[in-house]
Amino acid sequence: MSTVDLAALVRTIPDFPKPGIQFRDITTLLADPAGFADLIARLARIARPLDADLIVGIEARGFILGAALANALGLGFVPVRKAGKLPGKTVGVDYVLEYGTDRLEVHEGQLARGARAILVDDLIATGGTALAAAQLVREQAATVLMALFAIDLPDLGGRTALEAKGIATSAILA
Ligand code: 5GP
Repeated sequence: MSTVDLAALVRTIPDFPKPGIQFRDITTLLADPAGFADLIARLARIARPLDADLIVGIEARGFILGAALANALGLGFVPVRKAGKLPGKTVGVDYVLEYGTDRLEVHEGQLARGARAILVDDLIATGGTALAAAQLVREQAATVLMALFAIDLPDLGGRTALEAKGIATSAILA
């Protein structure tokens, strides 16, 4: 098993992006070659048995982990982005934030009907972002096999919210 202390490679930055928020910063983990390799290996151990067709990564840090994981598993990678970033024709879903709404989009046709997807992001907090991404996948008649994260903040209830919608959820650090 792993000898890398991944938790020690994540730093907490107080008051980012707003006062009172303790931001878990994974750039320190990504910059550490053994840490990055170990994180992807641990994600791959969870994901491999699911026999997915593709990895769906959520902007922005979900791109880094999701693309590395897809590559490790020999799968393709599909980005889910904030509104207006993808150049081709998109389909999207609007979702409610604490203040206001946001929108996630994916290129039309990249989530094939019946495709078996694993959703990847760096961190789950309230679960709002992952729920919206899962809804987008499901609206394309594709399946979310699992939502997979480096970090879960369990006090914020995201995992419970995803599991209530029938989405298996897994994280390396909690
Ligand atoms: P949620 O929608 O679950 O409340 O928030 C999760 C989303 O916000 C993810 O896309 C994640 O990247 C970002 N996020 C929220 N808080 C943090 C944090 O403390 N650290 C990092 N790295 N990302 C965060």
